[in-house]
Amino acid sequence: MIRLLDKLERDRRLTKEEWVRLLAALEAEASGESEGPGVREKSDSYQTQRAQEAPGEDTPARPLSKELTARARETARKTFGNRVYTRGLVEFTNYCRNNCYYCGIRAGNQNVDRYRLTADEIMECCREGYKLGFRTFVLQGGEDPGFPDRTLAHLVTAIKSEYPDCAVTLSVGERDRATYQMWYDAGADRYLLRHETADPDHYRLLHPSAGRPLSLANRIRCLRDLKEIGYQVGTGFMVGSPGQSVETMAEDFVLIQELQPHMVGIGPFVPHHDTPFAKEKGGTAEQTLRCISLLRLLLPQALIPATTALGTIDPAGREKGILAGANVVMPNLSPTAVREKYELYDNKICTGEEAAECRGCLSGRMELIGYELAVDRGDHPSREDAQSRGDHSSHEIQQDRGDHPSRGGGKL
Ligand code: SF4
Repeated sequence: MIRLLDKLERDRRLTKEEWVRLLAALEAEASGESEGPGVREKSDSYQTQRAQEAPGEDTPARPLSKELTARARETARKTFGNRVYTRGLVEFTNYCRNNCYYCGIRAGNQNVDRYRLTADEIMECCREGYKLGFRTFVLQGGEDPGFPDRTLAHLVTAIKSEYPDCAVTLSVGERDRATYQMWYDAGADRYLLRHETADPDHYRLLHPSAGRPLSLANRIRCLRDLKEIGYQVGTGFMVGSPGQSVETMAEDFVLIQELQPHMVGIGPFVPHHDTPFAKEKGGTAEQTLRCISLLRLLLPQALIPATTALGTIDPAGREKGILAGANVVMPNLSPTAVREKYELYDNKICTGEEAAECRGCLSGRMELIGYELAVDRGDHPSREDAQSRGDHSSHEIQQDRGDHPSRGGGKL
């Protein structure tokens, strides 16, 4: 299996079948079913070729997962050094018109105490965040018809006018292309929209097909539109969601390698008590960390967060995430009075601290593992040149300069 890691590092892509084999081998090793250290294929022509090309080079003989982590950490260090980017997260509305089965703020949950921040309150979060050193603000919320799209556009423009050295990321779900374009023209730099699973049947298991139906096809349409418009685009998936298999995860990795997103957010599935998945088993930190490392080898320059969900199921989850190849953390800038109301899953951490405490806490955690929080927009490396010249409004320049270096012939 080491040869598949070699291939992933060399080509930055695998076939679906290869993804299945690699994921299955990692799973088997984790459950104690493998033959132990040095998992490898003896009749491996690529390995033979490698040995011929580099005589005397020792093939790693540690467990596959440890080899994976070490390579991913090294890859991240080569691109980003010991700097960890921060994003100030403003969860500005917990209203949502959708009913995703895994989500605590789904429309059908009558027990949610709904809130919607005003534009002034959101600006105040940004002011506080700027003072603390944040240079990216992430405006996240459900798909809330009560917060008009045009109001959000005005808000983005206001933030960009007051903080021209900052990036604005939106994460507010599915819209039509014209709306995405309006927000981009208003100044939004990035957009996060997890695909959650790239397998259509699995997607239907996680999302309702009645009422207000959600489809994988429309999710991919959104991602394609966002990328074409010129956003730095983030996608991602839940690890350990009900119905997930090695095959569906292989499809996730194939979709990601075709899309070549600038950001990939993955976190463990954590059940919420007021959802149809309340009794389902959650994903594990180990599995999530393995996926982070695989993503790092697939996309060396991508912005990959060590998520709050990972920190929720493992007290040292975010540190482990960084050491597994992640390079972003997203402390919360929302007013403490509303934090607990944005409960996507049970036992979410960091709902009680002030923004300054959150940043201080994370700063200390990162220092302990030899990393530091950067005061920086933290753009994808392929976008830094364009952004530093203030070229946001020049779609042509963004398109010309914005492609991921390894993108090649991405299908999406
Ligand atoms: S996951 Fe997002 S779109 Fe789905 S119900 Fe929750 S907030 Fe709404």
